[in-house]
Amino acid sequence: MTLLIDTAETVKPAAPSAVEDPRVPLVGLDRDGLGEVLKSAGVADRQVRMRTAQLWNWLYLRGATDLDQMTNVSRDLRERLAEVASLSEPEVVSEQISVDGTRKWLFRFPPRGAGRPVEVETVYIPEEGRGTLCVSSQVGCTLTCSFCHTGTQRLVRNLTAGEILQQILAARARLGDLPGAAPADGAIVPSEGRLVSNIVMMGMGEPLYNFDAVKQALLIASDGEGVALSKRRITLSTSGVVPMIERAGSEIGVMLAISLHAVRDEVRDELVPLNKRYPIAELLDACRAYPGLSNARRITFEYVMLAGVNDSPADARELVRLLKGIPAKINLIPFNPWPGSAYDCSDWETIETFADIVNRAGYASPIRTPRGRDISAACGQLKSASEKIRASALRQAAAEASA
Ligand code: SF4
Repeated sequence: MTLLIDTAETVKPAAPSAVEDPRVPLVGLDRDGLGEVLKSAGVADRQVRMRTAQLWNWLYLRGATDLDQMTNVSRDLRERLAEVASLSEPEVVSEQISVDGTRKWLFRFPPRGAGRPVEVETVYIPEEGRGTLCVSSQVGCTLTCSFCHTGTQRLVRNLTAGEILQQILAARARLGDLPGAAPADGAIVPSEGRLVSNIVMMGMGEPLYNFDAVKQALLIASDGEGVALSKRRITLSTSGVVPMIERAGSEIGVMLAISLHAVRDEVRDELVPLNKRYPIAELLDACRAYPGLSNARRITFEYVMLAGVNDSPADARELVRLLKGIPAKINLIPFNPWPGSAYDCSDWETIETFADIVNRAGYASPIRTPRGRDISAACGQLKSASEKIRASALRQAAAEASA
């Protein structure tokens, strides 16, 4: 059973361009940025550091969504700040809760420049002992991985650092994960520890194609005085943008995951077309050179199991050979079909045979149980509601034209 609070199908597409707010959005600013805003609001230099600390605490620890919540900031300063800076939360267009506790939100952000409001999906996966938030970095994607539903949605734009952080803050607020809050009665959440304990940049988009915003958001999320998630609990997943992998390690320093999915270039060229630019050998060389790589900081290789495409015992043996010498984990992902997808999931026996081969080679390779299938929240299934509506309108128009 799926508990639908609101369904994607009932969502109206975002209205065309409203007027853009000229004020600086506070969420997404680092300490220097907050200091500049405070100065522009007339705060004296000698007070900037203290006021910055106050703002930081309200924004990133308490998740404030309105300047008036900042009760230890004088009314006069709040009014001056409101003239130059904005503080808001994304509109929650829909929230779906799976029978297994997985939640999927469709968040809408205001327009930027001449654009429209945009929508992205964010997914929360509660498990025993941890709660993982899957965060989007772009609206749509330029890469067209053939097994991925998001890949069928054209890129609308990159998200800002603030919009990436707002997914985390809004999810925490709705889960009851902010100081002084608690989860709703009956909510499926980890039995102990933080409700959002891990972040994976595995939602919509290729994070390394939006490097600066992703970097700023993740550095703020891992700052010890705010959201305060350890970099070991943050994973950036890339389809293999080789020239940016070293920078991800040296400048952000989070864990790395690679959407590998194939062991031969001719197959990966089909599944992950970026492979034509950065083939497997180059990608694995970049992985070997990933800053900070060690047995305690392994790279995760994601491998989606596609019937008859990449799932043979020979593929498993080749995977073991390719990863030799790289501290690695392998995540086997049973394929989650979506309407119009060209693949089937490998059968269970095939997946187990594959897993046995990589396990015997010393890789702990859990078969990732699909989560949130009933709400299309599983890997590769994200696609914004308005895009679904647009796609369905196009299909209808095509059907009418051919009738
Ligand atoms: S798998 Fe990632 S990079 Fe590939 S199309 Fe989907 S969202 Fe884009």
